[in-house]
Amino acid sequence: MIEKERHVLIILPHPDDEAFGISGSIAAYRNMGVPVTYACLTLGEMGRNLGEPPVATRETLPEIRKAELIKSCEAMGLEDLRMLGFRDKTLEFEDDEEMVKLVEDLIEDTNPSLVISFYPRYSVHPDHEATARAVVSAIRRMKEDERPKLYAVAFANNTEAELGMPDVIHDVQDTIENKLNSLRAHISQTVWMMKETEDKLAQNDPEIKKWLRYERFYAYKWDMDFK
Ligand SMILES: [Zn+2]
Repeated sequence: MIEKERHVLIILPHPDDEAFGISGSIAAYRNMGVPVTYACLTLGEMGRNLGEPPVATRETLPEIRKAELIKSCEAMGLEDLRMLGFRDKTLEFEDDEEMVKLVEDLIEDTNPSLVISFYPRYSVHPDHEATARAVVSAIRRMKEDERPKLYAVAFANNTEAELGMPDVIHDVQDTIENKLNSLRAHISQTVWMMKETEDKLAQNDPEIKKWLRYERFYAYKWDMDFK
């Protein structure tokens, strides 16, 4: 059961971050008529992958990834995509206050009832961590009764040992096709993984169906410190 929201604000650093664990939920919100804004901070231009066969060169990768991101948003029915133009792999060096201000501006502009981002300390990549820190800091500074909910995606190895099981699980069976199309849209990054996924789907593999069907989040607890 996915709760209806007033407005959902997604804040992630890389094109394709949305595809793996959030795209089914985004499509479900859109089907419910919930407005969804996706702020994608970089164009992932430092990505190591260029597709197989290559669909991009080092020089064209930013444009290719931009086009892939737009296609992914179409697959999810998401209309409010904001590409913020930071440089990939540099977010950790951005001024923390500037990042917080950016999140504050996004929240002020969209007035979300729910924000979805990464979980600080449990999201592996330095850009993910920098994004997560800024999101948590910005919301923490708001008055308690004005804060949107924060659903955080965590996938570090120690996540379940330290945080327990995710407390918000979305069954996205109804939007699995949207999710697959979002994953397929990011072909320069997902081609290898999608080959395997489509093979397993063709064989009716229960594990892959389960992986696609359930999206897992931690509802951020504001009494926990992230530092
Ligand atoms: Zn990423």
